[in-house]
Amino acid sequence: MQKLIQGVQMLNGDGELVTADVKVTGDKITEIGKQLPVEHAEVIDGKGLLLAPGFIDVHVHLREPGGEHKETIESGTLAAAKGGYTTICAMPNTRPVPDTKENLTFVNDLIAQKSLIRVLPYASITIREAGKERTNLAELKEHGAFAFTDDGVGIQQAGMMYEAMQEAAKLNMPIVAHCEDNTLIYAGVMHEGKKNKELGLKGIPSIAESVHIARDILLAEAAGAHYHVCHVSTKESVRVIRDAKKAGVRVTAEVSPHHLLLCEDDIPSNDGNWKMNPPLRAKEDLQALIEGLEDGTLDFIATDHAPHTEEDKGNGMEQSPFGIVGLETAFPLLYTHFVETGKWSLSQLIAWMTEKPADVFGLPYGRLHMGESADLVFIDLNKEQNIDHASFVSKGKNTPFQGWTCKGWPVMTMFKGNVIWQEEK
Ligand SMILES: [Zn+2]
Repeated sequence: MQKLIQGVQMLNGDGELVTADVKVTGDKITEIGKQLPVEHAEVIDGKGLLLAPGFIDVHVHLREPGGEHKETIESGTLAAAKGGYTTICAMPNTRPVPDTKENLTFVNDLIAQKSLIRVLPYASITIREAGKERTNLAELKEHGAFAFTDDGVGIQQAGMMYEAMQEAAKLNMPIVAHCEDNTLIYAGVMHEGKKNKELGLKGIPSIAESVHIARDILLAEAAGAHYHVCHVSTKESVRVIRDAKKAGVRVTAEVSPHHLLLCEDDIPSNDGNWKMNPPLRAKEDLQALIEGLEDGTLDFIATDHAPHTEEDKGNGMEQSPFGIVGLETAFPLLYTHFVETGKWSLSQLIAWMTEKPADVFGLPYGRLHMGESADLVFIDLNKEQNIDHASFVSKGKNTPFQGWTCKGWPVMTMFKGNVIWQEEK
């Protein structure tokens, strides 16, 4: 079966928007050109819409198995599709944790049954992410692990991290790290700065993150491993990553939309929907993250989509769990605040959500080329609407962006040539 997408706007190699037709045969893009013949194809009218490669998010918490009241593979991948994502990587802090070949196979089988898009599962570095006993990385690689991480917690023992990196280097697999030194958290629930003092809440100092990154960079250098840093949030972290890249260490890093858009000053009150880990930092940190992304110190954008129930999140900063949702709002938020304002080009933003993560992890997706998988998002750049968590298809409604007006909404998403989500008309 062929589909002909007519008259869409596409970015050319120079980052300019051009009008084109795209033919999809089966699950592949088979032709890109001007006014292609319809022949027997089903026609999709793309006039007025931007066509981009389906987005890639390497940092998603799907919660299933074990946390289905917060999110399921079905609801999470639908939320991803609605946000324009066609490839996501699932974090391993589920129950069970994919820490053995049996548990990873169990997770993989659930994904195969339930996901609407491509879901690549992380396996953990330590058994149950408890930091005590290393998993069998070779076996987990063999059974389909995308990469290794204990995301949700930092790996406390340097020796554990070093040995995991040595093994990962042998396997040519990345170590992906949530960086947090437990001895530097001080029971904090938000950034240790000025806002936590105003609200009378305990703070997490920036060093809880930056010290771990500095340690790991030196370990990665010694081990010769590819070390990827999750959700960078502090200016010191940006500095040590920048220095490490200059020194030739194989380090890459991601930043989340909320850390690019919000800082501690924006937190209105003691509200759990503003609690995430790492926390929203100071204004200078936010500036350093934007600069870091722009100069290539930070490689790409990942949401850290972390759904929780409203009950979980309704108990203020101290009692609520960490995390906010991100899949359904990432592109419109970033488009509105960085592209519409002229700070970034459209092609920069799209690259940070597609080809950059693909390149860091060697994934054969994220490009709109002939022969590639027909994973496509159609975006109405002029469509303006307010973020309303009641309209989320994710089970998680926990967003600090409620009510924000954004432009640039995905209206249709295609995965392997099939329309898997479409805006209701
Ligand atoms: Zn994390």
